[in-house]
Amino acid sequence: MRTSAPSPNGSPRTGSKRSAPPSRRAVLKGLAAGSATILAAPPVVAQARPPVVVVGGGFAGASCARALQRQDNALAVTLVEPNPRYTACPFSNEVIAGLRELEAQQFGYDGLRRDGITVVQRSVTGLDAQARRLRLDDGSDLDYARLVLAPGVDFDFEAIPGYDAAAEALPHAWKAGEQTLLLRRQLEAMEDGGLVVIAAPANPFRCPPGPYERASLIAHYLKAHKPRSKLIILDAKDAFSKQRLFEAAWQELYPGLVEWVSLSFGGRVTEVDVATKTLVTEFGSHSAAVANVIPPQRAGAIARTAGVADRTGWCPIDPVTFESRLVPGVHVIGDAAIAGAMPKSAFAANAQAKACAAAVATLLTGEQPAPPKLINTCYSLVAPDYGISIAGVYHPSNGLLAEVDGAGGVSPLDAPPDFRAREATYAAAWFETITDEAFG
Ligand code: FAD
Repeated sequence: MRTSAPSPNGSPRTGSKRSAPPSRRAVLKGLAAGSATILAAPPVVAQARPPVVVVGGGFAGASCARALQRQDNALAVTLVEPNPRYTACPFSNEVIAGLRELEAQQFGYDGLRRDGITVVQRSVTGLDAQARRLRLDDGSDLDYARLVLAPGVDFDFEAIPGYDAAAEALPHAWKAGEQTLLLRRQLEAMEDGGLVVIAAPANPFRCPPGPYERASLIAHYLKAHKPRSKLIILDAKDAFSKQRLFEAAWQELYPGLVEWVSLSFGGRVTEVDVATKTLVTEFGSHSAAVANVIPPQRAGAIARTAGVADRTGWCPIDPVTFESRLVPGVHVIGDAAIAGAMPKSAFAANAQAKACAAAVATLLTGEQPAPPKLINTCYSLVAPDYGISIAGVYHPSNGLLAEVDGAGGVSPLDAPPDFRAREATYAAAWFETITDEAFG
């Protein structure tokens, strides 16, 4: 079966004869010239709206679909996402530490439907870029004038010999959901005095401060419930985001509980044994009571299928339009994109989504978009009332998104407790705002 973009009420449109996708200006010109015909045959108006399809209903995709719809009601916006509800990663470390329930992380797509966006609950399995047509997992097709891919990340499990993605012994919990609860249950079941090991990957990966926030909140849990236990972070890097702030906070809040092992001191995990929860490094091995192995990552599978990922596994883009450097007419945003100095965060995904939506709407009028300025702030909780942050501003420079010198910064190293407590409340407020903007 082949369908063009479904109608806003969700029912698929049966295929009509296809031609090259019209620009919106051409469409509008055509509408103006033929208004008498339009009066006689109103359905033509609906069909003439340039179809823009967004793939992936995470922070990037949902924000982009909404921004496109709000930007320009003359577009027919379709979001394709297989899950009926999205489970957000930010604040999922709190779920692992027993400070929050998973339900608080889950959001549906009714808000997008109310905006007039067509939500198709399917996976995209293929792309014919020449024909500007997507294939869905039920065998139907979807045509687009412009496509936005926002599939997030996939894991490179093969990079860790011995890892068994199906086994539940070494949960990654790096996509929020069942894995988050699995890790939480394993911590709850662990005896006091047990060793928790977190294996953090090399750059680039989703949420650079995430493993260290996780270590902090697990340490908070251990300090309260299993104080004889210990936590080791085995790191495939020699430095990490907000490092001085994290290390100072660990010293202050969890002395002797958290140990960080850098790449140079044998932090890279070279092999695992699932049966004994043993993590092998170049310098020795660690047998854990609970092991959280976060594998190396790459763009979601559909990015590779669509041909927009390069040999790094990530997707090169134009920093003004987010259009793929490999496949014209396809834009890539969020974690899957190579966004230069911008980290892979929900904040960044949302900022890129809005810039991309503006660029797509402009390109469909036949005009050229202006270079965007993008902001990112990553909050991390070291304890429920102890927040730290890093912020940056980014702009296109030499074909990449580069940091604007002097525009960002991190929390001060010597801030008093009420400052840290305020940053923790800002983090919570940020999560409410961004989830409302994307899904509310
Ligand atoms: P995702 O959120 O992963 O969304 C991708 C969507 O695409 C998914 O819904 C998926 O189902 C869909 N999809 C994939 N393939 C297909 C297909 N073929 N067809 C249709 N749909 C498809 N960021 C912050 O800014 N602040 C934080 O405090 C923060 N904390 C974090 C803590 C943890 C523990 C983790 C793991 C991450 C954290 N992040 C944080 C990072 C943030 O979660 C990601 O950067 C963000 O989710 C990226 O959004 P995305 O839309 O690119 O990808």
